[in-house]
Amino acid sequence: MDFLRPTTWDEALAAKAERPEAVPIQGGTDVMVEINMDVRRPAALLDLNQVAELREWAMVDGMCRVGAAVPYTTIIEELGGPLRGLAQASRTVGSPQIRNRGSVGGNLGAASPAGDSHPPLLAADAVVEVESRDRGVRMIPAAEFYLGVKRNALEPDELIRAVHVKPATGPQYFSKVGTRNAMVIAVCSFAIALHPDERRVGTGIGSAAPTPRRAPEAEELLARELDWSAPLDPALARRFGELCAAAAAPIDDVRGTAAYRVHAVGVMARRTLTWAWNDHLGRRAA
Ligand SMILES: Cc1cc2nc3c(=O)[nH]c(=O)nc-3n(C[C@H](O)[C@H](O)[C@H](O)COP(=O)(O)OP(=O)(O)OC[C@H]3O[C@@H](n4cnc5c(N)ncnc54)[C@H](O)[C@@H]3O)c2cc1C
Repeated sequence: MDFLRPTTWDEALAAKAERPEAVPIQGGTDVMVEINMDVRRPAALLDLNQVAELREWAMVDGMCRVGAAVPYTTIIEELGGPLRGLAQASRTVGSPQIRNRGSVGGNLGAASPAGDSHPPLLAADAVVEVESRDRGVRMIPAAEFYLGVKRNALEPDELIRAVHVKPATGPQYFSKVGTRNAMVIAVCSFAIALHPDERRVGTGIGSAAPTPRRAPEAEELLARELDWSAPLDPALARRFGELCAAAAAPIDDVRGTAAYRVHAVGVMARRTLTWAWNDHLGRRAA
């Protein structure tokens, strides 16, 4: 197995253009497991750990641009305010060791339907910045990035450079069902982001369909019927939960049944909306 070790982003793009079959490796918390378990034996690994700019985040044109290699620990410690949904999800990932090594770029690269960063990225309208040496930059909305189980929109010569997320303008929540509180892959998960400036609510469903996905009809319901200055109507919250559950398309597997996942998505949707709404009203009153 060849081990390619670029030290700059341009070198990394050149290496991927010349060796499109090379598998990028960042934290290695997915790649090394697959190699150790003989799930795959790539002809080449493209180690991105020397490319310093991937580990940086910055505000760019009003958006938070998070480098692909920024680990969960940094998101938790430095971005809990502007990216509170993503930070909340990051706190549930693996263990401290996994959060120190694992990155949002790696989560996007793996594109597992159970990846914890996906629901908050969807709810917050994140955009994935990818690049190839020969065709330059593409900006892909998160909702278009996930194509199938562990399949994403990357071309063979492309790498993920960063993810762009608008700083939160309202409450955001992430909820995850697992068999215990740590070191657990989601049975299913849900994220919500209130966008009071646009009178809109974003959603993200995890581990309850072949890809992470939004619940568009539930979002439309709230855009139509929410009164942003009144207490939440319990009937509207219930209807929201039902439409989120209806947007799920899960399977039975070792972690849970499809029927349980549909039910749980509905419950998480109703609960997270209620939590977020209470925060929203509290903030207005303060
Ligand atoms: C014990 C354990 C617990 C875990 N718990 C969780 C959990 O609770 N929640 C969760 O979501 N995940 C969990 N994971 C999975 C993993 O930690 C995450 O998916 C993590 O985000 C992967 O990041 P990484 O940097 O380690 O990626 P890597 O393993 O380096 O790469 C993952 C994939 O992304 C690709 N890739 C990496 N960087 C790029 C790039 N810049 N451009 C293009 N492709 C790229 C790789 O080729 C590979 O396909 C766990 C893993 C382990 C081993």
